[in-house]
Amino acid sequence: MRALVKHHAGEGLEFVGDRPIPELGPLDVLIRVTKAGICGTDRHIWQWDDWAAGRIPVGIVTGHEFAGVVERVGPAVRLFSPGRRVSAEGHLTAGLDYNSRTGNAHIARDTKIIGIDRDGCFADYVCVPESNVWPIHESIPDEVAAAFDPLGNAVHTVMAADVSAKSVLITGVGIIGLMAVTVAKAAGAARIFCSDVDARRLKLAKELGADEAFDATEGDGWIDEIRRATRGEGADVLLEMSGAEPAFDTGFRALRNGGTAALLGLPAKSLSFDFTQHIIFKGCKVLGINGRKMWETWYQMEQLVLAGRLQLEPIITHTFPIEHYERAFETMISGEGIKVLLSMD
Ligand code: ZN
Repeated sequence: MRALVKHHAGEGLEFVGDRPIPELGPLDVLIRVTKAGICGTDRHIWQWDDWAAGRIPVGIVTGHEFAGVVERVGPAVRLFSPGRRVSAEGHLTAGLDYNSRTGNAHIARDTKIIGIDRDGCFADYVCVPESNVWPIHESIPDEVAAAFDPLGNAVHTVMAADVSAKSVLITGVGIIGLMAVTVAKAAGAARIFCSDVDARRLKLAKELGADEAFDATEGDGWIDEIRRATRGEGADVLLEMSGAEPAFDTGFRALRNGGTAALLGLPAKSLSFDFTQHIIFKGCKVLGINGRKMWETWYQMEQLVLAGRLQLEPIITHTFPIEHYERAFETMISGEGIKVLLSMD
């Protein structure tokens, strides 16, 4: 089969045409991939930064966001048969640890991720356990279903922070931050503020429903603007989606006392942060957000998509055939594209 392989400990990926089709265990489902999304994580793997060098086994097939069709199933699989259109939760767990057994499998101790710890979906076929397969609703197209992984991050963050009738600040409007704008709008946020360093993304955030979009390269006067708009209090909710060190400081400064901060963005390294002012004296609630709740987030996301409450077309901007993977990555890395998909069909 065709596949994009992390072929060496350095920049880039290799396109191969003769990767063996994955072997099926008794409980596995072999899926013929139709569309796959390029994620920020894939950019780290492409660029081979410190995180990627420390985590990614050289030789794996990359990619973890996809939609496809069941090709074959293992002998013990009961719920799926060939021809079913599916996506999958890319976080795999044996299901035996504390969190898996108490409804929190997204933070299981033994989590392995497709395209990161084992072969992923930038290929004609990917193999995942039956328990991770998600049947795609007939009226949801592959392009949208292939983005359920990052969209699920946005839905999980917004739902965990409980934004209904509240003022919300989103720091960082990259792919997931932009998705969070449309999700927060759908979830009934009263006012949505955004900050970012990219003027194009800020403009799009406003088109998606943000009330104010602040350019963080122009100083931090926007924090006062948020205060003025909230009786001097600050935003009720902070959704941190940038992972950028300055955004942690400005985001918490703009959060009101007793507010809720949900953190999804990953700082590249340890950062200096004023716990005294930002958390302790502020009495705020801080939530770490990892992945998608299995499967609550997936159901919520499907409902929101089916109800037509989310604007995803402006975010899913490009699709390239897998052979044109270099242009696809360039389009994503340069910022010209937002969610960029690879097409295998
Ligand atoms: Zn992803």
